Order: sequence, then C-alpha cells, then structure tokens
Amino acid sequence: MSEGASEPEAEDPDDDPDSGRVVFMAEPGACAGRLEPAQSLVPQWLADMIDFHAWPSVPTPGHLPGRARTVCEHVDWELVHADHPELFERRQQVGAPELSALWEAKAELAETGTPLAFDVQLEEIEGELALAVYGAGVIGRLDDDQWRSVAPLLATCCCSIHEPRSDVELFGSLLRPARPPAVAGKRTIGSSIRPEHWQIGDWMHTWFAYPLYGDLRHGCACTAHAASAAGAQFVPNLRATA
Ligand SMILES: [Zn+2]
Ligand SMILES: [Zn+2]
Repeated sequence: MSEGASEPEAEDPDDDPDSGRVVFMAEPGACAGRLEPAQSLVPQWLADMIDFHAWPSVPTPGHLPGRARTVCEHVDWELVHADHPELFERRQQVGAPELSALWEAKAELAETGTPLAFDVQLEEIEGELALAVYGAGVIGRLDDDQWRSVAPLLATCCCSIHEPRSDVELFGSLLRPARPPAVAGKRTIGSSIRPEHWQIGDWMHTWFAYPLYGDLRHGCACTAHAASAAGAQFVPNLRATA
C-alpha cells in the first residue's frame, strides 16, 4: 500500500473516460492523496472531507469501478452516514457489521485513546456514488478490555481477523522475517461470533476485513444479519444479477 503513495496513479486505459473518473493525486506530507478536482462522481462536500486522505482504489468483487478509498481514522463516516444513508445503502453489502455497530466501536475505542480506522471504498453504481466498508481496525493489539467491548461490534461471521501476536510490541520490528502465525491466543468474541478467518501473527494492525457479499452463518448473532435485513428493503438493482 505504501507503494504509489509518492506517485500519481497511472490512468487505467480500460476505464470509461465518461464515467466520473476520480484520480488519485499524491500530496506529500498529507495523510494520503486528494481527488481529481474536476471529477464529478463525488459531491464537493464529501470531496472536502476526504481530500488528503484518499488512496487509490483496488479491484473489488463484482467488478464495480472503485474510484478511491480511505483507510485512516480521520474521516467522519458516521456523519456522512447520518446525512446521506443512501450512499451506504446503495452498495447492498452483506457480511459487514451494521453501520451503527461500527460507529459505536469507534466511540468506545476513542474513549481509550485508540483511533479506529475504516477502509471505505468509493464506488460507482449506475453512475451514482456508493460507499462500501471493507475493513476496520487499529494499530497494534487491542487489550483485553478493548477486545471485550469492540470485538462483538466489529467481528461478523463473514469477516477475516488479523491480530498482532501478543509479543509483537516486545519484539516489534518489521525488519525481521515474519514468524509462522501463532496457534494460540485467540480470545472469545461475545455472542459466540465465529469469523470466517482468524490469524494471529506478525502484523502491526488488528484488522477486521469484510467481504462485499459474504455468506451469513445461520444462527449467528453478529450485526451483519441486521444490516442485511435492513438492506433488503432497499431497491436491490445490483443484487439481482450478482
Ligand atoms: Zn487520514
Ligand atoms: Zn453472523
């Protein structure tokens, strides 16, 4: 991901030039890049919020054009959601937590001085902007109290969890080769939520990654089920063909 931070992204020749391109432009010294000022997909009020925090998008399942993403803790996505819920609803994501659970986790962790970052991708559906949440996490390892309070909010039965080993701060250096993932040390997640994948190893982040369309596990009590049920009331123009 650090690659490309110093150079503007090359234009993709396969991209439709009329579809509201959002070009990433590096801004050295800032958190990340900014959107192409002439782009028209992202409204100006939102561009003002994410400029200098925008990364190039990455291909996502479903082949929808990704336009940019943010992966830091600086953008108030809760505010965006409160004012424009349709931007998230349009995406029809299955397997990510209910958005209110994400905002609650962010508030809980903020009280302990730990910023929670979201991976939010700006995508385009039938010419309109849609927002998808592909991940949430923090730098370092959550302590037991933090884990107890936010793991049930951030974990879903469709998510992949990566956690730093408990000794990563003791030996924390990225200059050594990674060790094999630890086989022990997984803490319980309230309500018996079982993630799709869970690894503890030589990572510097605790990260919960979400799919675009996950298979919800029957009988599970994670908040992705509530999010999916709410989304079903929205016009499913994309799901019908997915
Ligand atoms: Zn930022
Ligand atoms: Zn679930």
